Amino acid sequence: MKHVCALFVLVFTLVYISTFHLIQVPYTRTYYFTAFQTMCGMFGSRFQVARLHTQTPFSTTHRDFFPDHCGQTVPFTSDHRWWEELYRPIVGDHIHLFYKMVVNKRPVVFHDRNLTETIPYETPTESCTADYAYKKQWYHTGVHSHCDRSASGGGIIHVHPWSAPNQLRVQGREVTLGMFFESVGVERSTTGRGFLVKGKYVKLNMAYFTGPDRVQDLLTHSEEEIMNLWLVDCHGVVLLWDDDSDMPSVTKEDVEFLETFECHPSDYPRR
Ligand SMILES: [Zn+2]
Ligand SMILES: [Zn+2]
Repeated sequence: MKHVCALFVLVFTLVYISTFHLIQVPYTRTYYFTAFQTMCGMFGSRFQVARLHTQTPFSTTHRDFFPDHCGQTVPFTSDHRWWEELYRPIVGDHIHLFYKMVVNKRPVVFHDRNLTETIPYETPTESCTADYAYKKQWYHTGVHSHCDRSASGGGIIHVHPWSAPNQLRVQGREVTLGMFFESVGVERSTTGRGFLVKGKYVKLNMAYFTGPDRVQDLLTHSEEEIMNLWLVDCHGVVLLWDDDSDMPSVTKEDVEFLETFECHPSDYPRR
């Protein structure tokens, strides 16, 4: 009987231990290397960048390491040298994606919004002379439109983080379709009405292709997935349409139009 009890306690303890989780906030990675190994084990994605910062008593510098050139040994770190993990696009990259949005069977092409926007009063007040309640200040993030338009009504998303103010620029996984929407004045309703496009709420569907010659990589109508689409692929294609319209097609002319916009640097990674 004693043995049965001991066995039961042991099994119960093992099952209980197997339910343990580890949650780390924030999520950090640790890599272990010997002096004889290359850096290739640090990279899990072609879009990853390993940045080594070096600090002196007077200033700081950094050196970037990319997956395509990972065959070197890992530089040693010290109190004054540390690593940062980044993802493309970063400052220095300049990439372009094609988008086509069709609402009410009509293509919509965007220009950047006015960077200041006055918000009207909910109820007019007599205590202020201004004819608006408050003023919003939007800003240039480096993810935006130049109002380019293809013959069939598609447009181009420009991504070049260097052009934005240093503290306000977005890079890596923060370069999203939602960021583009913010630049051109498309808003997602917080009460489930969909997206506000040129003054009207619509429910959007989205197809994403990592390149114009690819089969569809993602198809969704999840608003969160649409907002968080990572704009990392140079010459990626984003198709958006409302429930009253059909999924737009990408013509040969659209692809030729897209290819007039370059990928910088020329060795920018592709999937
Ligand atoms: Zn631009
Ligand atoms: Zn551009």
